[in-house]
Amino acid sequence: MKRFAVLITICLLVMGLHSGLVSADPGGYFILTGDLHCHSEFSHDSEVPVEQVVRETGLAGYDFLALTEHNTTRHMTRDWSTDEVLVIAGYEHTTPAAHVNIFGLRFIPRKSAIYSLEEMEEYLAPLREQGAVIQLDHPNDPLYYSRFGYAMEMDLLEVWNGTWREDDHKTLQDWHQMLVEGRYIPATGGTDAHANHLRRSPYNNVYVQEKSEQAILEALTLGRNFITRRPDGAQIWMECDGEIMGGTVPYREGQTMHIRITNVDPGMILRIYSDQGLHLEHVHTAGGSYNLQLDTSQVRFYRVELWSSEDVIYGFSNPMFIQH
Ligand SMILES: [Zn+2]
Ligand SMILES: [Zn+2]
Repeated sequence: MKRFAVLITICLLVMGLHSGLVSADPGGYFILTGDLHCHSEFSHDSEVPVEQVVRETGLAGYDFLALTEHNTTRHMTRDWSTDEVLVIAGYEHTTPAAHVNIFGLRFIPRKSAIYSLEEMEEYLAPLREQGAVIQLDHPNDPLYYSRFGYAMEMDLLEVWNGTWREDDHKTLQDWHQMLVEGRYIPATGGTDAHANHLRRSPYNNVYVQEKSEQAILEALTLGRNFITRRPDGAQIWMECDGEIMGGTVPYREGQTMHIRITNVDPGMILRIYSDQGLHLEHVHTAGGSYNLQLDTSQVRFYRVELWSSEDVIYGFSNPMFIQH
């Protein structure tokens, strides 16, 4: 049965390549690219003036930026936004137990001496009540990994931190395993740049209907985000019954999920995963775009990975879920 489904999918895939299948898309969304993890001179370990960081963020192609300085809110006493870059409220709660980004609040009490999950939860609870969006950062970093794994309650998980390394790959695998087990924490990326802000990666590509801090944070927590190495390369769109990437729709007979990937580099490898594992793999020799209609009768979610080569990731999407 599964083999049959894969065969059908590949037929549709090839058809899609030539006929440009398009389903009715819910309108009004556009992409804002952003960095959710970045440091300036307000952090003890960066010397780059904040104006320069924001300017170079714009030049690097980002539309929004969270300055996530270590254990300080001093940078939030004024708004550093420019015409190019919307600066949203950020803070990196840097502790021996874990590093946690806090978004959306401008006043955050400093308490770096946190050694356990219990202390972390106690610290975060009142912030959560004030509407903070909480992200676990670089959980498998060789030095600054999370001492309590993924046990913390969180809104976002930083799957891709800076240059893609083994630990990011491990986080991607852990995240997939959590999805299979039914735990969904929307994935993000962050450059964690402390210098060289002009040349940094990755990019969050967030589907919003307006450019505001609130709209961005809401879209992130809904998983309307795919993460890429570059701002000008392939883009991923997922839609099913009027919902988009990150969302959940009830299953109905004959339902398909529409996945559209545009601006694919020649030779790029497409992998689509479901809760059953790798569902589809295809090398786009010529480059261009994919239009896929995937059968949803056997899966709880689909998600997309794009690889520039076997070991260089280009990007990945958040999942889209089917409720059976
Ligand atoms: Zn950190
Ligand atoms: Zn950091």
